[in-house]
Amino acid sequence: MAEPRVPGGTDDHLDLPCGETVHTHDVDLGMRELACSCGATHAVVMDVHPLGRFVPDFLVDTLRATITTDDDYDEFSTAHALAMVREEHPEDVAVADCSADGEVGYGLVWIAEMDSYELHRTVVELLVELMEHAISHAEDGPTTAEFEKQLEEFELDAFVDTYRSERDFEDEYDSAV
Ligand SMILES: [Zn+2]
Repeated sequence: MAEPRVPGGTDDHLDLPCGETVHTHDVDLGMRELACSCGATHAVVMDVHPLGRFVPDFLVDTLRATITTDDDYDEFSTAHALAMVREEHPEDVAVADCSADGEVGYGLVWIAEMDSYELHRTVVELLVELMEHAISHAEDGPTTAEFEKQLEEFELDAFVDTYRSERDFEDEYDSAV
């Protein structure tokens, strides 16, 4: 399992993959994307965003039931998902640890080179792989078989498109974008 925590003290800025610098106090909780001075749009994620931003609750429940965490988080969370993205794309995701900064309202913040659609797609892809892996080690049974069937039929792009359009209108803490 990828480690969500970043070693070191409190960060007050992120050095983005594109070369721009963003101060953590300029990133607010409702932000899902950053229109960057470089001209690109970068995805913004914070550890306080629920995993439901990316996947439906039943999948979150399955993840939490299957994946055990051995860090300071009680259960599988957005921080783990983003740690996985960073492990997969280390050059493309900047992260800042603001857990000692009481003013920002979040602990960790990630800003990716990709936009929020592409990040969403990447997160879902990694979570599905993680679950396939976990299921392959689970005891065979009706639940496992049913789940494997669901995963086989799973269409990543269609899922992300539908999920984003359905979740678009929810409140800022629950929105897919
Ligand atoms: Zn940029």
